[in-house]
Amino acid sequence: MHEKLLPNFSRLTTLHLGGRARMLLVAENSEDVTALSGRMQELGLKPLALGNGSNILARDGDHDLALVRLDLPERMEILGREGCETFVRVSAQVKLPHFLRFLCEHALTGLEGLAGIPGTVGGAIAMNAGSFGSEMCRYLRSVTVYTGGSIQVLESSALSYGYRHFAFAGSQDFFLILEAELAFESGTVDAIHRLMNTHFLAKKASQPITLASAGCLFKNPPAGPAAGKLLEEAGFKGRELGGVAFSDLHANFLVNKGNGTASQALELMELAREAVQARSGIRLEPEVRIVP
Ligand SMILES: Cc1cc2nc3c(=O)[nH]c(=O)nc-3n(C[C@H](O)[C@H](O)[C@H](O)COP(=O)(O)OP(=O)(O)OC[C@H]3O[C@@H](n4cnc5c(N)ncnc54)[C@H](O)[C@@H]3O)c2cc1C
Repeated sequence: MHEKLLPNFSRLTTLHLGGRARMLLVAENSEDVTALSGRMQELGLKPLALGNGSNILARDGDHDLALVRLDLPERMEILGREGCETFVRVSAQVKLPHFLRFLCEHALTGLEGLAGIPGTVGGAIAMNAGSFGSEMCRYLRSVTVYTGGSIQVLESSALSYGYRHFAFAGSQDFFLILEAELAFESGTVDAIHRLMNTHFLAKKASQPITLASAGCLFKNPPAGPAAGKLLEEAGFKGRELGGVAFSDLHANFLVNKGNGTASQALELMELAREAVQARSGIRLEPEVRIVP
C-alpha cells in the first residue's frame, strides 16, 4: 500500500479548494484493499473514498480523514452477450471518458449523455452520475465492493439507486467500489459518436467546464424549477464572494477563480440557499459532497 501524509484537497479535487486530510492510502492490489480496515483502525481515522475529486467540496483546515484511492490494474473488457445485451466489466478507477470511448468503440449505447463528466467509473456509480437522460446505475448488473472488512460481489437485486444516490443492502458510511459489470444494448459506432459529441458540445456551451468547479452545486428539487433557474431568479448568476463565484454561464456551477477558499464557497452557498428559500420556499440540497 502506498501512503502519503497530509494530502491536500486543493490538489486532489477539481474545485482546487480545501485543506488537508491526515493520510492518503493508495491500494495497489487486492491485499492492500483487504488490509484497509486494519490500517484505518491503527490510524484511528475516518476513511473517505476518493475518485477524481470532481464532486467534492472540502472544507479548509486539517481533517481527521484517511483518503482511499485505487491504483489497481485497470480492466475494461467485454464478457459476452446474452440476447440483445452485451456484458462489460470495468474497474472503478477507470476515467469515465475512457470508459465512454471503449463503449463507443464496441458500439454499445446508453451512456452517451455522460460525455464531458470528469469523474471515475467508481465515482460515477457512487453518485449515480446522470446527464441528458443517461444514468450510470441503470446499466449495473453487479458491483464488487469492499465493505465491512471484506470484498463482496453484489448483484443488481441488492443495489438501489436514485437521483445522485447509490446504496446497497447493509451499506455503511464507507464502502469502496472496486469494479462493476454493466449490460448495454448495441447501437452503431457512428450514431454513438455523434450523440456523445452533441452532448459534449451542449455541455461546453452551457457550463463552465474549463474552469475549476465540482459540477452542479445543488440538486434539482424533486418538483418545480431546476436549481439553476431558482438561483438565477434569486440573483445569484455571476454573484462573487472573494475568489469564488456562481458562473455567469450556468448559475448552478460554483467556480473557484483561482484564489478562492472553501470557507468563501460555503458562505456563498449558504447565502444562495437562504435567498432561494426566502424567494421560493424551496430549500436547495447540495449535490456536491461537502467533506468532512
Ligand atoms: C465540469 C463538471 C461537469 C460535471 N457534470 C456532471 C453531470 O453532468 N452529471 C453528474 O451527475 N455529475 C457531474 N459532475 C460531477 C462529477 O463529475 C460526478 O459526480 C462524478 O461521477 C464524480 O466522480 P469522481 O470520481 O470525481 O468522484 P469524487 O468526486 O472523487 O467522489 C464523489 C463521491 O463518490 C465517492 N466515491 C468516489 N469513488 C468511489 C469508489 N471507488 N467507491 C465508493 N465511493 C466512491 C466519494 O467518496 C464521494 O462521496 C460534473 C463535474 C464537473 C467538474
